[in-house]
Amino acid sequence: MNKEVVLSGIRPTGFLHLGNYFGAMRNYVRMQEEYDCYFFVADWHSLTTHPDTKELKASVSRVLAENIACGLDPEKVALYIQSDVPEIAELYLYLNTLAYKGELEKVPTFKDKVRLSPDNVNAGLLTYPVLMASDILVHRATKVPVGKDQEQHLEMARNFAERFNHRYGEVFPMPYAFSYGATLAKVLSLDGNGKMSKSENAMGTIYLNDPDEEIVKKIKKAKTDAGPTEPNSAKPDYIENLFTLMRFVSKEDVVAKFEADFNNCTIRYGDMKKQLAEDMAAFIAPIRTRAYEIQNDESYLDRITKAGAEKARESASATLKLVRKAMHMNH
Ligand code: ATP
Ligand code: MG
Repeated sequence: MNKEVVLSGIRPTGFLHLGNYFGAMRNYVRMQEEYDCYFFVADWHSLTTHPDTKELKASVSRVLAENIACGLDPEKVALYIQSDVPEIAELYLYLNTLAYKGELEKVPTFKDKVRLSPDNVNAGLLTYPVLMASDILVHRATKVPVGKDQEQHLEMARNFAERFNHRYGEVFPMPYAFSYGATLAKVLSLDGNGKMSKSENAMGTIYLNDPDEEIVKKIKKAKTDAGPTEPNSAKPDYIENLFTLMRFVSKEDVVAKFEADFNNCTIRYGDMKKQLAEDMAAFIAPIRTRAYEIQNDESYLDRITKAGAEKARESASATLKLVRKAMHMNH
């Protein structure tokens, strides 16, 4: 029986952070053992918001290296760079004729980006969900490990796939967002404003590249409050976020102690942050070191991305053959 196909990508827009790790890469590393996996560095996607490409090449190498340092095995998956697979651009062109301006303008991530950069509202930004659908559908993937922020884009990918199937014939299975946890992850920025991000919230984002002192400093500054006054209160989201991070990196009994302290109103956030910072630094240090070694090995990265692109193009061109046939464009 054929394995289910998995697809996910990360933009080369800066250093990876805990949101990328817990929302995406942690799932990649487990999925590579069970599924037919395609993971890519989304360099075309980065052009929509980062038109200056001087740092792009270094950033692509960094994202590749950080993925491998987190446990992704290029022997087990196709690890490739988006712009090495021209079939994606062809599918993007076809799907653009099935996507409507009105629905694209309503996407919350588009509206956010318009608010942030009113001077750069380019057509690529508007059709970002169409390119993302092409990334997924080009491999006829059904499982897409992503964080919560991408959920709506997945719904749009299903809409485009359904429209294509309806208009031209059944080619695409429906893709769904995937996480091994019960829900899709959303790691909040430590200042309580929005999510951790490569391109925003630098002081509230812990990068996999941060040195130990920086991690300690950022966690020390994380937003807290005077603590609960009623036993078993609901946690504000910025406090829940600290517990979420702690569940990721600290021992179970450590988390249980602070949970109990919170529930009986004796929690000291200073102590909790100190413990969290220590455990987080111990978690990140080996990833940081390993990523540096890999990033500097250019010939290794060239070799694996060439092999990755070959695997990806094989799968993508098989899909494009079906697409063109369905569209009566197999002249
Ligand atoms: P940028 O700010 O440049 O858009 P980003 O941090 O949002 O960068 P992306 O490359 O857009 O990262 O997303 C890569 C993957 O990481 C996606 O699957 C996305 O859902 C996930 N992700 C990004 N931020 C978070 C977060 N804070 N919590 C959980 N998952 C996240
Ligand atoms: Mg993003």
